[in-house]
Amino acid sequence: MTSKATDFLSTPLQFLKGVGPRKAADLKRAGLVVVEDLLYRLPFRYEDRSRMQPIASLRPGTKAAVLGDIKSSNLAVTRRRGFKIFHAVVGDSSGAIRCTWMNQAFLADILRAHLQVVIFGDVKLDSTGLHFMNPEYELVSDDISGVHTGRVVPFYEKTGVVTPNMQRRLVRQALDQLPPEIPDPLPAEMRARLQLVPRRTAIEESHFPPNDASVDVLNAFRSPAQHRLIFEEFFLFQIGHAWRRHASGTELKPLVPVVDDRIRASAAKVLPFKLTPGQRQAVKEIVDDMRRPEPMHRLLQGDVGAGKTIVALLAAIVAMENGLQVAFMAPTEILAGQHYGNIARLLASSRFRVDLLTGSTPGLQKHTLLANIERGTTNLVVGTHALVQEQVSFHKLGFVVIDEQHRFGVAQRASLRAKGLRPDVLLMTATPIPRTLALTDYSELDVSKIPDLPPGRKPVTTLVKPESRRDEIYDLIRRELEAGRQAYIIYPLVEESEKVDLKSATEMADHLQAEVFPAHRVAVLHGRMKQEAKDHVMHAFAAGRIEVLVSTTVVEVGVDVPNASIMVVEHAERFGLSQLHQLRGRVGRGQWESVCILLYQAPWSDDARERLKAMSSTTDGFAIAERDLELRGPGDFFGTRQSGLPTLRTGDLVRDRDIMEAAHREARALVERGGLTPELTSFVARQWHDQFGLIEVG
Ligand code: ADP
Ligand code: MG
Repeated sequence: MTSKATDFLSTPLQFLKGVGPRKAADLKRAGLVVVEDLLYRLPFRYEDRSRMQPIASLRPGTKAAVLGDIKSSNLAVTRRRGFKIFHAVVGDSSGAIRCTWMNQAFLADILRAHLQVVIFGDVKLDSTGLHFMNPEYELVSDDISGVHTGRVVPFYEKTGVVTPNMQRRLVRQALDQLPPEIPDPLPAEMRARLQLVPRRTAIEESHFPPNDASVDVLNAFRSPAQHRLIFEEFFLFQIGHAWRRHASGTELKPLVPVVDDRIRASAAKVLPFKLTPGQRQAVKEIVDDMRRPEPMHRLLQGDVGAGKTIVALLAAIVAMENGLQVAFMAPTEILAGQHYGNIARLLASSRFRVDLLTGSTPGLQKHTLLANIERGTTNLVVGTHALVQEQVSFHKLGFVVIDEQHRFGVAQRASLRAKGLRPDVLLMTATPIPRTLALTDYSELDVSKIPDLPPGRKPVTTLVKPESRRDEIYDLIRRELEAGRQAYIIYPLVEESEKVDLKSATEMADHLQAEVFPAHRVAVLHGRMKQEAKDHVMHAFAAGRIEVLVSTTVVEVGVDVPNASIMVVEHAERFGLSQLHQLRGRVGRGQWESVCILLYQAPWSDDARERLKAMSSTTDGFAIAERDLELRGPGDFFGTRQSGLPTLRTGDLVRDRDIMEAAHREARALVERGGLTPELTSFVARQWHDQFGLIEVG
């Protein structure tokens, strides 16, 4: 019986009645191949068509369902050639009403006199009186329960040529053929404890809810049936993660670092300031992980300027003191250069050799460098994604740091890790990750947070201004420059209009230099410049020789110039919330009061207004991230689909956060107590492979 049910779920839709090869091809294009695809594509909306109204009580401007007999009908030919109107009068014991369909002449053969019918639709009033215009209809016969009317009716998103009505009919048919017992991946004990309805019932009632179901609850996706299916999906996803985490925990590191007083002293020596409590806690969690036999997979979250770099460096010293090499990867050359500069300075008096490897490291130098990395002479190498190139091989890579990790693809992160012998991995991010996303993309990771900022930071004041107030803003900048501070002016760079924007950034820099700030030095920085030119500008800005930096978003991540106290973002309406937050983090890094001005050009969309409002109302990165997730949806949150987010069939990462939370808890607990059964395992493997499209588990 079980296998019969599984067979039916994996039956190609072509074998359903009324689905020929053509329709099957259409369905396939809409992503529907087998019966299970169809049954797991839930309605996006429900309408209550169960309450029949007496015709005499109908009011214009409402939606209503009535049940009656067809009293009469006629097909009218209009003056427009070939255009026909079909009228039918439907009556019940209270009265009668006219129904009108435009251009559906075939109805004359279906809605014949004396038949009993349910009509559902908009009640209209015009000079001819009350009527239904293009309503939905369904003939009432004894052997068929209502599919399109006379009940709570499901609505499906139109996908390709598959119309909602067609899908409704197919789903009904598939459900009628679905065996009464189907295998359930959720363990019975858990189902009972969490009061989850059986899978078969959940599928049936998510499509065709019982008549006492509340349409409001259904439309909020909170009916017991919907909840069960969403939980099932999240649970299978989380089991995959828990399983992977469990499996990687059984691989042991070839060398487990130790920490003694000598190593503590060595780390303390490089420390240029007192750590904040948050930093101290993070260092402790990381070093505790390093001393364990299993490799570390930890995510370090801390808002921009929270001081993640020094935390990573202290852990790196522990690794190097234990004879291990360290790779420190950053997403841009500017950032890698900056990290290299800082780390080399801090380690100058140590015995550790620090090197920099980027795409623009000159050939000869690169040759020597690669040899040093391979021989182990280089203890710590900072670099861009150049580090994952094939020619780079390490002597004894034991610790990997990936800064601004979401800027890298899953594959890049994995291939750097693969260059070591089960190294400890520390991922860092200044984009606070909302809890639900952390539970999906980073479910296997342990997380450390730095909740505090180094002392003396002043919150950045944020102003949202129309472009027309530009002159006032220039005055504000001028005042800062005269007080010895520096300024950023940021231009967006949208791919389609890259050239135009570059031109405007460059022209803007010229204009600002010549007419607005003739007494100060202005320069431009953008991604298309040669590396040397970029470095030159960045160094000059860091050293204060350039006072106004007109830049595209290349300064977005990590750049640290504490003397910069004012930032203007041009076309702020074009930026995402998290990106604006990152940009704003470039100011307010020193002891000065800082300001960030978001200039917008009207007209702006409601979304843009919401984003800029959120920016001016909080500087809390976590609050901003949650808001960003709500506004943009999870797919766009990281600006990339590479991030390993699953393709979901029933659940929604924003709407169903709490269900994900529960699924995560249950899955971890089950895997940790060794509760994986072969049956569950095969469900998970199939789901991960077919649906989530993620790397194999196990
Ligand atoms: P992020 O977390 O954004 O990567 P950084 O590591 O770049 O932050 O640190 C931001 C700035 O704060 C740097 O100039 C760094 O030297 C400084 N900093 C970090 N920690 C402290 C601290 N505990 N006390 C004082 N300054 C600190
Ligand atoms: Mg940083």
